[in-house]
Amino acid sequence: MYKILNNDLIRDYIDETPQIRSLLLDPDESVDTLDISEIGDGNLNFVYTIRSPRKSVILKQAVPYLRVVGEDYPLSRVRMSFEIWALEAEKALVPEHVPEIYYSSHEMSLVVMQNLDRHKILRGEMIQRVQFPHLAEHISTFLADTLYYTSDFYLDPAIKKENVKKFINIELCKITEDFIFTHPYEDNETNAYNPALDREHVRKFRENGEVKVAVQEMKYKFMTEAQALLHGDLHTGSIMLNPEETYVIDPEFAFYGPMGFDVGIYLANLIMSWYSLDGEDEAYAAYVRGQIADTWNLFAQKFKANMMHHEKERRSLQFDYPDGQKHFEMFTDRFIAQLFTDTVGFAACEMFRRTVGLAKVADVAGIEDLEKRARIEVRVLEAATELITHRRDYTSIDEVLTVLDTQSTE
Ligand code: ADP
Ligand code: MG
Repeated sequence: MYKILNNDLIRDYIDETPQIRSLLLDPDESVDTLDISEIGDGNLNFVYTIRSPRKSVILKQAVPYLRVVGEDYPLSRVRMSFEIWALEAEKALVPEHVPEIYYSSHEMSLVVMQNLDRHKILRGEMIQRVQFPHLAEHISTFLADTLYYTSDFYLDPAIKKENVKKFINIELCKITEDFIFTHPYEDNETNAYNPALDREHVRKFRENGEVKVAVQEMKYKFMTEAQALLHGDLHTGSIMLNPEETYVIDPEFAFYGPMGFDVGIYLANLIMSWYSLDGEDEAYAAYVRGQIADTWNLFAQKFKANMMHHEKERRSLQFDYPDGQKHFEMFTDRFIAQLFTDTVGFAACEMFRRTVGLAKVADVAGIEDLEKRARIEVRVLEAATELITHRRDYTSIDEVLTVLDTQSTE
């Protein structure tokens, strides 16, 4: 039966759960020797580290409300089931980038996993201007493999449809539909602004019909295009890494959606990190731009390689082209071009909502000089406007990087 755990109850729970107990303790050792502490800085759930002399693990539990707001904001704990299923699916595809899952319970809405205590959250590291030589390589692999191998390009159509059904994640998709695709474009009470941000700028993009039509198009894609199993929340706070290893955590927003959503959200977070530098630290700025370019280019390359590698065995897309290989490659290139357009569109949506919606990115919102922060935010809004309205025109990531250089019209 479900109950919300705390330090004491975790001890009892471990004592009763041999799969966890035996990970941490010998049979004759007492659970009293365990060192348990709550470390979660997340918005939704409770995260604990549990240490014994021999091992340390993470226990994450969902509670039936939104942690950051409190019990007045109910959110069903079934979100942990989506997180468990997504972690399992991702682990099978890219084991080197997903934490080890030791134990999970849908009944208790919890997961016990590898403690990434030699790794740090990417967002914080970027704010500290730390460079990671393998990051683009690792994230592009995570994206290319999770998106390709869960799609109709690889899976048997019946299995793929069963997966779509399993991952119908109504409540968390609604959060995205509201907080990314709706509220930031309205006068909504959940929006929050930098007080120094001139409301004219907010009004300007909000009253831009072209922007609103484009956001509507991206929202509709998000709601209807069940292309692949998405992580659903792939920002730089969902990545833990060190110079050698990169792990993706927290996939509770997982569902079958448009591939460009995961890629676009990630790139938007890199873009905002780049803007937060505000022209300073040229070396780090060049590194971040390199990450943006490399992530897309490596992703496109790897996704295409997956497509071509499995060309012979593709199941749902069996087709007798006049020139099999050549025409399948043409199909693949066109698909990736469309995926790029979607990526740019979703990236722009993330840039808008991280500036004028409820949730911010610390890279920009952490800037104490509010005038400076506002100057950056105006550039973000203007770049996002440009990107979303012209997304169909770009053919390479370099063209997107050029747009980022455009100075504010102010
Ligand atoms: P939420 O769903 O509440 O946002 P997260 O999964 O993002 O929770 O976890 C919150 C925080 O807990 C992370 O930012 C990280 O600091 C820590 N954390 C989560 N999972 C692990 C892990 N496997 N190893 C180490 N720390 C973790
Ligand atoms: Mg989360």
